[in-house]
Amino acid sequence: MENRSNGGFQPSEKIVYLDNAATTPCAPEALAVVVEALSGACGNPSSHYSIGYEAKEILDRARAQVAAAIHASPAEIFFTGCGSEADNWAVKGSALTKARQNKRHLITSAFEHHAVLHSMRALERMGFEVTYLPVSPEGYVRPEDLEAAIRPDTALVSIMMANNEIGTIQPIKELAEIAHKHGVWFHTDAVQAVGAIPVDVQELGVDLLSMSAHKFNGPKGVGALYCRKGVWPQNLIDGGGQESRHRAGTENVAGIAGMGAALELAVSHLEERMAHETQLRDYVIDRVLSSIPEARLNGGRAPRLPGNVNLSFPGLEGETILLDLDMHGICASTGSACNSDSLDPSHVLQSIGVPEEIGHGSMRFTFGPQNTMEEAKYLCDVLEEVIPRRRAMSCMWLQGQNTARQFSRKGEK
Ligand SMILES: *Cc1c(COP(=O)(O)O)cnc(C)c1O
Repeated sequence: MENRSNGGFQPSEKIVYLDNAATTPCAPEALAVVVEALSGACGNPSSHYSIGYEAKEILDRARAQVAAAIHASPAEIFFTGCGSEADNWAVKGSALTKARQNKRHLITSAFEHHAVLHSMRALERMGFEVTYLPVSPEGYVRPEDLEAAIRPDTALVSIMMANNEIGTIQPIKELAEIAHKHGVWFHTDAVQAVGAIPVDVQELGVDLLSMSAHKFNGPKGVGALYCRKGVWPQNLIDGGGQESRHRAGTENVAGIAGMGAALELAVSHLEERMAHETQLRDYVIDRVLSSIPEARLNGGRAPRLPGNVNLSFPGLEGETILLDLDMHGICASTGSACNSDSLDPSHVLQSIGVPEEIGHGSMRFTFGPQNTMEEAKYLCDVLEEVIPRRRAMSCMWLQGQNTARQFSRKGEK
């Protein structure tokens, strides 16, 4: 019964879960390891008796699994409480380390995850200077923009490997080379990339790399930061000597065990999973762009995460579509109003120049290994029913159509 190629997990009967960029279902293999670690003798990995050593062995094993998955050495992997903590540590810790050499300038991009962007804002309030690189209309950071932004006092460059909203994959190797040419540390938030596409820290040449277990079918509440040997962002969590004295706090042994198992599983099935998700992604993009008038794809088609579809449906609000989809059992996410007290389109859509009225009607669908072609087809069936019906009731859409008609009449004269 168990289907190894999709990690063995099946979607529940009624829910079509297409929000894998937000979080993923825990793979049974990872869950089993988590439960085993929680129900075992339960020693503290820092204690010097047998059940403490057992817990330490669980950590060592997971550290080796995570290291192997990204081609690092185990001593370069530091477990954290989540991907956000890894990002905060890389950004703030590097700024604090480099400030001792009077380097107080950082470079990032306009469409980073808030864990990086808000860390940068916090540093600005402490007197650091930050350059936010623009993003091309297709959703890529341009290496020449980085080259032009680097200064003698630049401490760190932080550019995400794959964007969580529009799925575009950045030229990390090229960007890291530019930073290194100027002796600057390079961090990448690879939370969306690890477990989804090949990630090799040797090949990429990055100094720091963030990841998070719940984005690759591991448990929530555990992440890791890769620090290349010799690269030391200052500690953020001080206390005991855990994680080689770099991140205090008794380790989340069960979560870490689950992270190691989930990543090993993801990487061992990477090629078939990528091929599968790419097929679902391209099916939805091609079908929706041809069947729904004025639908548009946000972010370039390649290089793009295998499972990411981000579409705008002008004339509608994403929230309306979201509710209609929910009625049909489909879980997705909107590209607008990413915090409930603002109605602005997300900073990511703004960064690639999506006009506000189009950004409002944006939806993100993200596939995981457990999704099926039947689900992709069902999504398209539902969209083809919902979008025209809602548009027929939408002032925004009807007015837009009138304006478009007037324009085309003018053109005819
Ligand atoms: C989810 C995500 C994070 C945050 O990870 P958490 O483990 O949820 O804190 C950071 N960066 C990106 C790109 C993400 O997608």
